[in-house]
Amino acid sequence: MREATAAVDGSLSTVDADPLAPRPQDVAARDLCRRLAVDVVEPVAREADETRTFPAEAVRALAAEGILGASLPTELGGLGWDALQLTHLYEEFGRVDQSVRGFLSVHLGLVCQCLFDAGSEQQRQTWLPRLASGEVFGAYALTETGAGSDAAAIATHAVADGDGWRLSGEKVWITNGLSAGVFLLFATVDPELRHKGVTAFLIPGDAEGLSRDRMPGHELGHRGSEHARLTLDRVRVGPDQVVGGIGGGFEVAMGGLDHGRLGVAAGAVGLLQACLDATIEFCRERRQFGKRIGDFQMVQERIADMACDTDAARLLTKRAAWMAIRDLPRTREVSMAKLFATEAACRWASETVLLHGSRGYVNERPVERHFRDAPGLRIYEGTSYVQRIVIARDLVGREARS
Ligand SMILES: Cc1cc2nc3c(=O)[nH]c(=O)nc-3n(C[C@H](O)[C@H](O)[C@H](O)COP(=O)(O)OP(=O)(O)OC[C@H]3O[C@@H](n4cnc5c(N)ncnc54)[C@H](O)[C@@H]3O)c2cc1C
Repeated sequence: MREATAAVDGSLSTVDADPLAPRPQDVAARDLCRRLAVDVVEPVAREADETRTFPAEAVRALAAEGILGASLPTELGGLGWDALQLTHLYEEFGRVDQSVRGFLSVHLGLVCQCLFDAGSEQQRQTWLPRLASGEVFGAYALTETGAGSDAAAIATHAVADGDGWRLSGEKVWITNGLSAGVFLLFATVDPELRHKGVTAFLIPGDAEGLSRDRMPGHELGHRGSEHARLTLDRVRVGPDQVVGGIGGGFEVAMGGLDHGRLGVAAGAVGLLQACLDATIEFCRERRQFGKRIGDFQMVQERIADMACDTDAARLLTKRAAWMAIRDLPRTREVSMAKLFATEAACRWASETVLLHGSRGYVNERPVERHFRDAPGLRIYEGTSYVQRIVIARDLVGREARS
């Protein structure tokens, strides 16, 4: 049950500060990330997409500015940013490139924050400074061929071996999976137990028995990302590599998704803002029938609706971030932000291509890439249908069983 401090309608009154007034630290975070997005990521985004190459050099340049540890405390080598500052980070990088934004959501949200929340002191000290500096990249390995939305159905199994385990199985679609130096990987100690058997393990990238290759096929979008298939053949793990206890992995996975989904929502806001900016600029310059196309009422209606959805997505995202800062239960609000922002991103990326006419249909402008990147946002970290299940279940509650 949610605590009494959270209003029933989840409104912004649940927090004690004006969410519309940017704090100095938000302005600083936004300005730094905007500068890095424009100077470092944007210039390489098109080539990374065309060549399907992870822009490792650009990501290393972000590491040098501390971005790869943004969500971690300064004692662990991070920037100590809170959830609201992180929404600026994801929005600014999402504005120029979903592949790098996706890298950051996984590395920061799903791995660093998850490990910080659920890891032992020894695990934190061993891995988090290395992740923060960019010495190693993190990946989060949950999905399997037979277990996507139904994460409790994972078949990668952990068999007891002395004081530890041996893991065997296969993971698919693992972002950052080719170059990751550490995996937060989920396996089951007993498939019959469903979610109660799921256990999280920290697996170093060079673990014996772990192999990785690129997912087959060409992705629709996020082509600058690494999507890997992992094969585990009796990978040995010791007791110090278990995160959150045996059988505690499902909770670890879902806790990570509260961070990760917020990053996806903020990334979608960035994509929406990019589409809006591109559309406004184009509608001011393109003339037909003797007028700027931005002077036609039908086009104005589209621009006005796109602006409203962009702001609404941003406000839903910021509400969830404020709730994170206050440590309030927020799974529903995070899902609402992810659902609304990613659906709007898909809708408006498509409309932006249309509003650009033939110029939206080639890769000389980034709107074509935004259009291909947007559908991925609705799929990973829980599809839009799954977000609706999370929201509705929280509202309706589960029926009591006798
Ligand atoms: C670009 C990209 C990056 C990814 N990165 C990662 C990563 O880093 N780590 C990782 O572990 N995974 C990753 N994934 C995998 C991703 O999380 C899964 O694709 C996602 O959870 C959906 O699983 P699935 O593809 O197996 O679809 P399925 O679960 O098979 O779903 C197929 C369809 O059925 C619907 N459906 C399923 N169950 C229900 C239900 N109960 N009610 C209504 N509809 C339902 C779904 O919404 C969907 O529309 C990534 C995927 C992509 C595309």
